[in-house]
Amino acid sequence: MILLNPGPVNLSDRVRNALLRPNLCHREVEFSQLQSRIREQLLQVYQLESDRFAAVLLTGSGTAAMEAMVTSLVPQDGKLLVIENGVYGERIAKIAKIYRINYTRLQHPWGGEIDIKALLALLNETDDVTHLAVVHHETTTGRLNNLAEVAAICQQRNIQLLVDAVSSFGAEEINFADWGITACAATANKCLHGVPGTAFVIVRRDALTAIDTIQRTLYLDLATYCHQQDRGSTPFTQSIQTFYALAEALQEMEEAGGWRARHAHYTQLANLVRNGLGEMGIEPLLPSENSSVVLSAYYLPDGFSYDEFHDKLKAQGYVIYSGQGDLAKSIFRVSTMGAITAADMERFLAVVKQII
Ligand SMILES: *Cc1c(COP(=O)(O)O)cnc(C)c1O
Repeated sequence: MILLNPGPVNLSDRVRNALLRPNLCHREVEFSQLQSRIREQLLQVYQLESDRFAAVLLTGSGTAAMEAMVTSLVPQDGKLLVIENGVYGERIAKIAKIYRINYTRLQHPWGGEIDIKALLALLNETDDVTHLAVVHHETTTGRLNNLAEVAAICQQRNIQLLVDAVSSFGAEEINFADWGITACAATANKCLHGVPGTAFVIVRRDALTAIDTIQRTLYLDLATYCHQQDRGSTPFTQSIQTFYALAEALQEMEEAGGWRARHAHYTQLANLVRNGLGEMGIEPLLPSENSSVVLSAYYLPDGFSYDEFHDKLKAQGYVIYSGQGDLAKSIFRVSTMGAITAADMERFLAVVKQII
């Protein structure tokens, strides 16, 4: 089965076999070495220095990392501005609401471009914003948000920037230094090609030391994890087999040329699909210049419901992904993540052609 959904992804044999490594107790030195190695490998993806940044490993899906980031970094007297243009931006606001964090939102229609003028206007009228949270790649629609522009505004105004990079980390540019990113949340099982079960936050160490008195949650407190992981320990049992898989996936990615090579590979696959579907009259929701290379959304072919189209493709070995909310009836999504090749995508196009 070829998974064209945005994670979990098709695994390489190397990564799958890593799941079979020896049993391990999370209080033994071998675990400690494995954990430290992954933390270092994650920083290496974007060449971050370990005295300035920490990779904090959590057992959970991408949402656990988002929740840990938001709850652990916005202080009690802080105010969070959430930019929304899809499901995941709205999820950040939901987290803030549940934990009673003081927040405000800048809302857009799903798929809409971030309105920089509206952002500036909002910041001019609310001068107490301390943190801004934004999704890098809005997987809802495939839109790659213009993080660089938002980041520049945060830097001018001394606002801490929190990024949901769950579906971009490892495949799109994330310039931590130039964009002044305070933290970003991501997961093992999307562009890094690992197994679901491990998520992480990359966080600036000075941001973490400044807030280690906030504790809104026991299980998702970043300062607690970071402190213990720096000492080679862990506060709670981690998902050890998925750690094995992530270490292997990161090694494999590095050997293949790192995030830039992955970006180039995804670009090739995404263009193949976009051009191939275009020739069949299947139009994308967003133009390619606004889309990530990780996922694109397309209008369903004439006369097909999502379920019918999905089921016919699945019968031929391809899993596509539905739209969410109001888009559920009109679009389908195709991701380029995972151990898949141009030949897989060419066969996918042939199958689509035959079905329609
Ligand atoms: C997948 C995803 C998440 C997290 O989803 P989980 O199901 O918790 O892994 C968060 N943000 C974005 C942008 C995503 O694509």
